[in-house]
Amino acid sequence: MEILQNANLEDYSTMRLGGLAAYLTNVADREQLKEAITWAKQHRLPVIMIGQGSNIIWKDSGFDGLVICNRILYYQEEPIGDKADKTVLVKIGAGENWDKVVERTVSRGMSGIESLSLIPGTAGATPVQNVGAYGQEIRDTLVSVEAYDNQTGDFVIINQEDCGFGYRTSRFKTVDRGRFYITMITIQLRYGNPKPPFYPALQNFLADSGIVNFTPQTIRNAVIAIRQAKLPDPVLVPNCGSFFANPVIEESEYARLQVAHPNLPNWPFGDGKMKIPAAWLIEEVGMKDFHDIEMGVATWVNQPLVLINRGAKASQQLLDFRDRIAHVVNLRFSILLEQEPELLP
Ligand SMILES: Cc1cc2nc3c(=O)[nH]c(=O)nc-3n(C[C@H](O)[C@H](O)[C@H](O)COP(=O)(O)OP(=O)(O)OC[C@H]3O[C@@H](n4cnc5c(N)ncnc54)[C@H](O)[C@@H]3O)c2cc1C
Repeated sequence: MEILQNANLEDYSTMRLGGLAAYLTNVADREQLKEAITWAKQHRLPVIMIGQGSNIIWKDSGFDGLVICNRILYYQEEPIGDKADKTVLVKIGAGENWDKVVERTVSRGMSGIESLSLIPGTAGATPVQNVGAYGQEIRDTLVSVEAYDNQTGDFVIINQEDCGFGYRTSRFKTVDRGRFYITMITIQLRYGNPKPPFYPALQNFLADSGIVNFTPQTIRNAVIAIRQAKLPDPVLVPNCGSFFANPVIEESEYARLQVAHPNLPNWPFGDGKMKIPAAWLIEEVGMKDFHDIEMGVATWVNQPLVLINRGAKASQQLLDFRDRIAHVVNLRFSILLEQEPELLP
């Protein structure tokens, strides 16, 4: 097991900010994971497991413990049911690149995760915030998660219904934050074409592009085209995707806001609640393509929900910029924006 000392955490976040980790190692299988955990226990060090760092903001103070980067690779398809059913269980190592998994399943004619194309990061991180895009969420196809339980010291299988999924959240991000190190996920897909209606933005793109043949591949291509037009490539422009989750508010609160803001968009959320696009709120307060030259931080020109690092020296500059946006939005709409990427440790 190779352990790096004083690893620069900038290299382990697509935001490219953060202090130092006292120790950092990569694990490629369950045995290496156990070895790394044992080493950390012997040295009385806390552990954080990460994937590709596309949803992490590291504090400038760094981490006085062991960062374990999950690089566990595995991919296996198991057809289930009879031939007519055409359902497949796909077991995926937590360290697999998520978009490569989507590409692979789509190229085999499977439906279920095609709208989750081009989301950066690893397969093992997808349940952590219940990743979602264009009308699909990982909870829709996830069957179970295999994880090392740091509380009991055993590998466990956690079924979908026990993952505590919600909008951009799960037990892995809330009550059991840091407890489970996910080593494998199992999802259930189906051979065949996705069926409309699709998510409105996707539906509009398909209509505008004259696409009427809905296959996993045509939907994946459409999602990639939409995302590439809207989102910066983290390799070229450091960012963590959406910096704020879309606020979910009571219908009564929505009605109150609508009096002053008749154009306020919404998506029905169920349970008497409405989801409001945070991007719209930020644009309304004039903070789209908003640059703080001194801090080296900005909102992205095509999607104000994305904060980009334009030469910031410290995570604190990004967090101050975040607070400024949240403050202005709150003053205008009395809505509190919540940060989506995790601030670690
Ligand atoms: C340009 C861009 C676009 C994005 N678009 C979307 C989007 O459309 N929808 C969406 O939901 N997200 C989106 N994201 C966020 C991000 O891609 C996802 O959250 C992704 O799942 C993070 O994967 P990762 O491997 O980089 O995880 P990391 O950032 O490394 O980790 C994220 C969290 O998960 C934990 N974690 C990671 N791996 C494991 C594991 N194996 N076991 C236990 N805990 C683990 C970490 O401790 C951390 O708390 C986007 C990000 C970017 C940069």
